[in-house]
Amino acid sequence: CPERETKEKDCRTEPISEPEWVNNVEFFITKKLGVWCRGRNGEWHLGKIQSASGDAACVVLSTTEVVEVSMKEILPANPDVLEGVDDLIQLSYLNEPSVLYNLRVRYSQDLIYSKAGPVLIAVNPFKNVQIYGNDIRSAYQKKALVAPHVYAVADAAFDEMMREEKNQSIIISGESGAGKTETAKYAMQYLEALGGGNFGVDNEILKTNCILEAFGNAKTSRNDNSSRFGKLMEIHFSAKGKICGAKLETCASPILKERLNLKEASEYNYLNQSNCLTIDRIDDAQKFHKLMIPQEHQERAFALLAAVLWLGNVSFEVIDNENHVDVVADEAVTNVAMLMGCDSKELMVVLSTCKLQAGRDCIAKRLTLPQATDMRDSLAKIIYASLFNWLVEQINTSLEVGKLRTGRSISILDIYGFESFKEYEGDGIDWTKVEFKDNQECLDLIEKVISSVPSLDLKPIGLVSLLDEESNFPKATDTTFANKLKHHLKANSCFRGERRGHGFRVSHYAGEVLYDTNGFLEKNRDPLHVDLIQLLSSCNCQLLNLFSSKMRDKSLKPSLSESMNQSVITKFKSQLFKLMNKLEDTTPHFIRCIKPNSNHLPGVYEENHVLQQLRCCGVLEIVRISRSGYHTRMTHQDLAARYGFLLDTKLSQDPLSTSDSIMKQFNLPPEMYQVGYRKIYLRTGQIGLLEERREYVL
Ligand code: ADP
Ligand code: MG
Repeated sequence: CPERETKEKDCRTEPISEPEWVNNVEFFITKKLGVWCRGRNGEWHLGKIQSASGDAACVVLSTTEVVEVSMKEILPANPDVLEGVDDLIQLSYLNEPSVLYNLRVRYSQDLIYSKAGPVLIAVNPFKNVQIYGNDIRSAYQKKALVAPHVYAVADAAFDEMMREEKNQSIIISGESGAGKTETAKYAMQYLEALGGGNFGVDNEILKTNCILEAFGNAKTSRNDNSSRFGKLMEIHFSAKGKICGAKLETCASPILKERLNLKEASEYNYLNQSNCLTIDRIDDAQKFHKLMIPQEHQERAFALLAAVLWLGNVSFEVIDNENHVDVVADEAVTNVAMLMGCDSKELMVVLSTCKLQAGRDCIAKRLTLPQATDMRDSLAKIIYASLFNWLVEQINTSLEVGKLRTGRSISILDIYGFESFKEYEGDGIDWTKVEFKDNQECLDLIEKVISSVPSLDLKPIGLVSLLDEESNFPKATDTTFANKLKHHLKANSCFRGERRGHGFRVSHYAGEVLYDTNGFLEKNRDPLHVDLIQLLSSCNCQLLNLFSSKMRDKSLKPSLSESMNQSVITKFKSQLFKLMNKLEDTTPHFIRCIKPNSNHLPGVYEENHVLQQLRCCGVLEIVRISRSGYHTRMTHQDLAARYGFLLDTKLSQDPLSTSDSIMKQFNLPPEMYQVGYRKIYLRTGQIGLLEERREYVL
């Protein structure tokens, strides 16, 4: 069984694993090999061990300072020849400081891309680096350049799609501001140039970014151009590899719904609350030209945008001691009514009252200040979200050509990243020992589907279903919800209820996060405001009428009969489910974007910041696993047929011996391959070496 044989040999041929290197300290001393030595604040210094006894060692640092430290604080460093290797797989010692150092060395030379086995790592340069554009692109296309690059990933996806006729995906992840959207754009740019037929000429696909970003991004204090939506761009190709259409799906984040306060002009309450209105070097007016929406649509869309902005300025006055309100009749509300095409009195009624059914009668009840504010913001969100969805529809109509067949598409996923970062600081994961953690327990905590025998009904349990269940109880509160979670989930090791109050903790893959149930139920309910929909349908504005009828249709669909009030989490879950289904049908290519510092500065590489991100996405584990794996497998027959002619001495050998001779002649390090009975097993990168030889000779 070659599989097993490979596995057993695997362990032997691995470079000295970190815990074991301690037995080789003498070797490090005599050969004067470098080590990493951990300083008081957790920072790593390069040095050489002078002497060691028991658990302690004397280390000369590169600053010539001599320190005495515990062996626990020392890790082996890599030989100089490995400095700045472009794939972390090539490092002899895979430990935290070595990986950090390698990425730092590369970053300082503007080599922002590196490989971690099959994954591309992209460290945000926060400046223009001369590694894009037509020349570089065509060099990757001709395979004249092979260094890690987003172009190389796009190229590999394209080749694999053409060769295997299988859908591909490029999955880009990273925290907010790490460079996901930019990376996605470069991938699109590459594919558009590669498959440019009717499409490529005008860069239609790339141009959609401009429109989407104009409407779906916001300047935040963390990122000047933060995406408030997730995006899946599916590019379809013909049998000849030409782009024949594209499809865009957006996964609106609940965050988008929460915070549609695009920050721009200080007069608007929706825009002026974060004190970050302008961006150096960015000229909105110039970008405005790129908005390729037909004039009439533009005018309608802008009128609605203005209505949203004015809505934010609509104010209320309290008229009794129960906090009930009236809308202040000022220019804000008049403008909103004018822009929406409705009567301002009617608008004021909708914003300050709600209709209640009392028997056969319908009575209007006045809203309190928080309720009215919520109603006003809901209207703004409905208009904005509908406008955004409408734009996506328009884009899709313009990109789609004929019926798209599957099997020849590349999807680029640019999802919104996490904003918060403090949570996994100092969690003290020692990743020299970490194996790929099995995340099943945490997934089960969020949702687990169990079948209750004998009925065999599938019943989900977990955080999601408990939230929905509690959201449906009119009397439930955030406290009852917190208690419910504690009661039902306490057996799961990834869950920890706070003894008091509303808090609970979840151990996610990246680290533990403390949640507060305050506001969970209300946010999850997301009731459909019937009054608002009615208002939209009565407006003298085609777009608003369209939005209202879409919302009505949705709520009347039989499958959604209960979902007049479909919860936020249910919607989110079904979007995620659709996305997962789609991605499962593809061969994935992964890109992890890393933000090297939190101040958006070029040339600044904060080790802790980088480290947390590498830990969070399990980079080291990926490298370990891919290094221990022999990803390329080939039968001896195939190998002999392809490379046999390269042998200096051609003996009439059987295919197995030919394979073996080829490996030896080209000096493939023994740890890089395994010879099985039927097949040869090669580690990543080895087949490339053989290919190079072959092409050279041919
Ligand atoms: P994310 O989508 O991960 O939140 P973005 O892609 O919007 O992050 O990147 C944030 C900013 O970082 C960009 O506006 C740009 O200034 C800079 N940036 C990202 N990637 C690159 C790159 N490859 N080259 C130059 N600047 C970049
Ligand atoms: Mg983004």
